[in-house]
Amino acid sequence: MKLKIFTFLSICILYLNISMYANQNYEIATWFDFKQSALTYTYDDNTPNQVNVAIPLMDEFNFKGTFYVVTGWSPNWTAFQQASNNGHEIGGHTVSHPHFNELSDDELTTEIVNSQTIINENIQGESCVTIAYPFCETGNIDIISAHYIAGRVCDARIEPATPNNFYEISSIVCGTEGLNTPQALNNKANETKEANGWNVFLMHGIDNDQGTYSPIASSTLKEHFEYVAQNDKDYWVAPFRDVVKYIKLRNDVTIEEDSVSQDSLMIMLSTTLDSEIYDTEISFRRAIPNEWKFINVYSKSGNKTFHVSTIDNQKYITIHSNVDNNDTIFVVNDIVTSGATYPPSVLLQHLM
Ligand SMILES: [Zn+2]
Repeated sequence: MKLKIFTFLSICILYLNISMYANQNYEIATWFDFKQSALTYTYDDNTPNQVNVAIPLMDEFNFKGTFYVVTGWSPNWTAFQQASNNGHEIGGHTVSHPHFNELSDDELTTEIVNSQTIINENIQGESCVTIAYPFCETGNIDIISAHYIAGRVCDARIEPATPNNFYEISSIVCGTEGLNTPQALNNKANETKEANGWNVFLMHGIDNDQGTYSPIASSTLKEHFEYVAQNDKDYWVAPFRDVVKYIKLRNDVTIEEDSVSQDSLMIMLSTTLDSEIYDTEISFRRAIPNEWKFINVYSKSGNKTFHVSTIDNQKYITIHSNVDNNDTIFVVNDIVTSGATYPPSVLLQHLM
């Protein structure tokens, strides 16, 4: 009898523990890794120094940018392929840089589809999914939205955490016709942080690129990048495509949790979006018991990046993960260091 009561109590305690975990809320980061804001650097018209100067400069800071190429203006495909391999985005900016408001629907379709096809033929690995409208003229959104997940205009607005219209994402012109000092660029970054929003910077010529609109000095960009890098808790620097995917996924994802044992959590992320396109990682965190010492994260699909932090004396785990409806993520208080068998058999059956 004593044993039965003990067992009953144990089950109750176990159950309480489990439901305590299960009822805790997950917090999904507004911006990757809980940064305060997002910054995107876009470069239009494939000017020579974007390849010669801007890409190496961004690489120095490990910042990834977006290069909106006009396919009829002889892009340096070798360099752009290399940039794409390195995480930069190669986006659409049409074949011939026309005024959209002077085009018929058929002509518009030809421009945006052909340029996308040419980019996809020349750039392996990543598909062209976003577009910058030449002269910032939006055109027929119904046609554009059939081929791209987002489009960029130039309204000099900072976008909120969730933009009102993904086909009219604003940008601000930099260089001689716009923001043209490190201070002006830094101020815009600050404003973006204050708004917890997303700012898209728009560049054309760099340094002595000939005959380009609103050129900017690479020394100005460099000084601004140094500022952003020094304040990297505030700023998520990412290509246009990545930020769009992040926002849409963040707003769509469902997080469900189950408990396998007292020392583990089982997490399932799901989305109604097309996982082939929306393949980026999102960040989320959850409180975990403070006594968990050896925390590890496993998933059916492979390793996940994560980190553990303490906020107001509470331990949290932050996980970066893509959203795969068929995956399961395990957070485990890893007892391998105590000499116990690992992974626990209870997890193994789920990992099969
Ligand atoms: Zn242009």
